[in-house]
Amino acid sequence: MSDLDITDAVMAELRAASDIVQVIGEHTRLKKAGRSWKGLCPFHNERTPSFTVDREKGLYHCFGCGAGGDVIHFVRQIDRLDFPEAVEALASRFGVTIPRRASRGPRDDRREKLLEALAAAHRFYQAQLAKPGNKAAAYLKERDVSEELGKRLSLGYAPDSWDALSRALLPAFPESLLVEAGLLQPRQEGKSGSYDRFRDRLLFVLRDERGRPVGFGGRTLSPEGEPKYLNSPESPVFQKKRLLYGLSDARDAMRKHDRAVVVEGYFDHLALVAAGIEETVASMGTALTPEQAGKLRRLAPAVVVCYDGDPAGRAATRGALSHLLAEGFSARVVRLPPGRDPHDVLRVEGPERLAARIEEAPDYLTWLLEDANPQEPGLTSAEKSGRLSSLVEILGVIPDTILRHEECRRLARHSGVPLDLLWDRIKPSGRSGEPATGTRAPGTPQPVPVLSDGGILETERALLSLLVRGESIPLIRETLKDEWLTDESVKRIVAAYRKLDFPSQIPHLSDENDTKVLARADLEEKFEPSPTWPGQVLDRIQKAYLERRVRSINEAITTAKTEGQPEDDLLKELLEIQKEIQRLKPSWKGKALVD
Ligand SMILES: [Zn+2]
Repeated sequence: MSDLDITDAVMAELRAASDIVQVIGEHTRLKKAGRSWKGLCPFHNERTPSFTVDREKGLYHCFGCGAGGDVIHFVRQIDRLDFPEAVEALASRFGVTIPRRASRGPRDDRREKLLEALAAAHRFYQAQLAKPGNKAAAYLKERDVSEELGKRLSLGYAPDSWDALSRALLPAFPESLLVEAGLLQPRQEGKSGSYDRFRDRLLFVLRDERGRPVGFGGRTLSPEGEPKYLNSPESPVFQKKRLLYGLSDARDAMRKHDRAVVVEGYFDHLALVAAGIEETVASMGTALTPEQAGKLRRLAPAVVVCYDGDPAGRAATRGALSHLLAEGFSARVVRLPPGRDPHDVLRVEGPERLAARIEEAPDYLTWLLEDANPQEPGLTSAEKSGRLSSLVEILGVIPDTILRHEECRRLARHSGVPLDLLWDRIKPSGRSGEPATGTRAPGTPQPVPVLSDGGILETERALLSLLVRGESIPLIRETLKDEWLTDESVKRIVAAYRKLDFPSQIPHLSDENDTKVLARADLEEKFEPSPTWPGQVLDRIQKAYLERRVRSINEAITTAKTEGQPEDDLLKELLEIQKEIQRLKPSWKGKALVD
């Protein structure tokens, strides 16, 4: 039980105070599109945006997977919080005071307690680093890391002691909690008690996407210390494969520069931040995971990989590229001198040169070709083929067939291997037959969604655009007749809207194609609504219907004439329809729709 007293009034205040675009914008790049904001859905994997956020209504909806709701719902879904936790998180963020019940509930919130303990440990470690004459400070100095940068990255020091942290925290937190947080290590079997996990280490703080400490990565400070780097174990608040070191601080820079720079370790990250490349995240010693790539997908369209130049680093780069290309990223790879990591480059060549190396990074295929070097003189055909196969494997993950073929063509040009031979090997892998919309060639800028009309008349797409904006739904319900519509999808969508209780709701569509049709109409930006616009749309749809009627009656009249049948009734009907068309004309004001 939470001790928060969450009333309807508090909820209304919280919804009004929370900026849904800001909250969601931390998880996916949102772009203003007309009245709403669009982006890639943070809840399912997609390459063309079908996720929309309406700031005024405070609602979000994904046309792809059906996720949707208000800001509280979003926070619950994305951070996997329960209702009171989500309310509390938003309240503290947007300065809304939630009254508390007189007595605290019997069960404490474990997750919140873990985060509190980790934050307290972080403060302790930072204070240790600030003390004069400690080993970590000396180590940082030796590696040319300024005190200011150390503070900015909130580095810490775990003293060379078995119980320094536990003595500091045990009065305030139960031992079992500190063990669960990965701060203390239980003694060997048979012995009770625990000891500090991090001892004599320089600590880097791992944060969740909201910037809260969830764990630490520690570099040993003694020559014989093993392992060299020690990370917190996984816990309810820390999942290694999902976390990118530095993400909460890098997010703004990623949005600003439309790219992310991925490095391997903490010192690589530190070096790039020192060189002013703030959109940097570290995959924490391992090659980028698919989950990490998916996380980045929502923040930046392009990734620059900056791993070590040694064989292990190059292998990790190839691994990272295959996940990045599969996610539809445009990717580049930094050339580092052999045997040097980014921190070495910073110290030897200086920050400007390091930053320049990032900017000069070639696109991934150039790097892969350099890496595999299938044109190396003296190679046998078998060797050449072997070197190409790793490349072929990576290109095979590109989800879009057309792009995959384009990249294959480039590979053919650079490797001297005929395109047909390469394509035969690349073609079968990956998903074939996907449309080309929404994916892009590496090195090209963020695409504007290209919207095909899907074979639906523009007037009917305009109608869908009205529906999805929640505008004029009563007018549409009263005026529109189903027989005016030609497209079956549009008919089903209109029927779904007719059933809604509130215009602001998004109907449930059982046909997947209908969902796509609606999302497409919503993303279509050519329609500029004006007060007269809904009327125009309806008039045009009705007029198109009447004109179809005119054509079929004319055909019937022709048939009647040839067969000697009476045509009076038909002529009368024709006259009525033409009057109806005349009556419609004067209401077309403002910007007319073009068919
Ligand atoms: Zn979705």
